[in-house]
Amino acid sequence: MTAPRPRDDVMKIHAYVGGESKIPGVNRIIKLSSNEGAFGPPQAAQAAFARVAAEIHRYPDGGSVELRRAIGARFGLSPERIVCGTGSDELIQHLCLIYGGPGTDIIMSLHGFSMYQIAGTYAGSRVLKTPERNLTADVDAMLAAVTAATRVVFLANPNNPTGSLLPQSEVERLRRGLPEDVLLVLDAAYAEYVTDPAYDAGTKLVDAGENTVMLRTFSKVFGLGGMRVGWAYAPPAVVDALNRVRGVFNVNLAAQAAAVAALAEPGWVERSVAHTTEWREWLRAALESAGIKTWPSVGNFFLADFATAERAAAANAWLKARGIIVRAMGSYDLPHCLRITVGTEEECGLVADALKDFAAHG
Ligand SMILES: *Cc1c(COP(=O)(O)O)cnc(C)c1O
Repeated sequence: MTAPRPRDDVMKIHAYVGGESKIPGVNRIIKLSSNEGAFGPPQAAQAAFARVAAEIHRYPDGGSVELRRAIGARFGLSPERIVCGTGSDELIQHLCLIYGGPGTDIIMSLHGFSMYQIAGTYAGSRVLKTPERNLTADVDAMLAAVTAATRVVFLANPNNPTGSLLPQSEVERLRRGLPEDVLLVLDAAYAEYVTDPAYDAGTKLVDAGENTVMLRTFSKVFGLGGMRVGWAYAPPAVVDALNRVRGVFNVNLAAQAAAVAALAEPGWVERSVAHTTEWREWLRAALESAGIKTWPSVGNFFLADFATAERAAAANAWLKARGIIVRAMGSYDLPHCLRITVGTEEECGLVADALKDFAAHG
């Protein structure tokens, strides 16, 4: 019997491994595996979500007009240059399909966000992973990988899962070194957490030419991962291409309402960022004092480095047995590390206690 056969490219893809959320037999779970904010969703977003319940028989606004206006007002950007997506994941996928394809290359750094590889391979491109320095993207290595076949370069800045930040001058050097017809995608999912005054999430480079796109999301600092809303700020030709292929009603009615409300919640980002910065460093210091190496991070997460894959797996099992879920890093070529999201003060305390115990007895 012959059955329908997927394209070979599809069968090359390893499905995305998301953060786990359940442990059999454990009631109270502390989920620190997906970089969701520490505070849950903003009150105003919850209220907006409830308010639209009676209207969900209606199709959403396919152009996300009010949401794009609200994003534009918040970040000082023209709504015309914004495209919303079902999470920024949808936009990553479309950018690969639009600009990549068989016979083309997409470049990312070795420990870059894994959706680039999945989406790029799906598009039929070859995805090249370039070496990093100190778990940070290396501009020279990325530029050295460029050939006539290169179409897209992805850079998550800050990067997930490493938490590293490429300095603004290096991002600009990357853009300058790339051919003009290569699209540079600056994925700034964690932009709000960056406190370095020299940092620009991507706006400047998008405005400076026709070949750079910035991606943002409501899934991290805004606490709306379950709603699936992301957006691109892009040159007109890229906006036009994305609007031709994206899901017509890609951002659902409740998601649009919740995202608009989240933007209006007073002090939300400031509070979240202040909490995250304080407790990230507190938790890193607690681990370091227990003899566990940690990597510096500017995001709402960091890598704990256990030196060997076996030791990391043992630590992961130890945490799991105590109801704490963090992210194993095997799929990111960092099997000796665990990625820990910064949660509430109580959650940080519980992780610190558990890992101190592990260091002493595990
Ligand atoms: C979480 C994350 C995203 C995906 O965000 P969604 O909007 O939820 O799809 C994109 N890029 C990076 C680097 C992320 O960590």
